[in-house]
Amino acid sequence: NLGTVVREVALELFPRAQAKDIDLGAEGSDGELRVEGNPVLLREMVKNLVDNAIKYTPRGGHVTVRTRFAGSPILEVEDTGPGIPEADRERVFERFYRVLGSGADGSGLGLPIVREIGELHRATVTLDANPAGQGTLARVVFPRSHLQAPPPVHGDVYPLG
Ligand code: ATP
Ligand code: MG
Repeated sequence: NLGTVVREVALELFPRAQAKDIDLGAEGSDGELRVEGNPVLLREMVKNLVDNAIKYTPRGGHVTVRTRFAGSPILEVEDTGPGIPEADRERVFERFYRVLGSGADGSGLGLPIVREIGELHRATVTLDANPAGQGTLARVVFPRSHLQAPPPVHGDVYPLG
């Protein structure tokens, strides 16, 4: 249940957000959103995305982690940080690549790990400008089941193969 993973990661990183006066919220995570996969890796993926959102967003900003179902399970992490320049939005998935002047410490390995975990789950990972205004929207789209139509409310188990 991706909702549970999101809730747990949000709880774990809450002190870090609080220390920066960042409003960290989870949306849609009280419902169930089932994806088939490795829970340890999925948690690592969510954690890296939320970690980035908190790390690069200045004090007083907002970070929202959202799970939803739109034809397939979707995870979104939205922040009100500086955003990632369009020219860098693919390059940040390369190992050790960091945007110049990001202003926080890091190794440049988080997003490559996120993408690799995504690939293992046949999910696509993309970064965009936050449509709500300033900031970044990271999105993970899991595959839709090709075995059965999803039930309307709760999502389903999505086979990898
Ligand atoms: P690590 O995750 O290994 O501790 P890192 O955060 O620098 O280090 P990545 O998570 O791979 O590495 O991110 C690569 C770069 O992409 C970051 O250095 C930063 O420049 C940029 N970036 C990633 N997420 C965001 C974000 N939410 N807002 C702004 N810039 C970001
Ligand atoms: Mg990172």
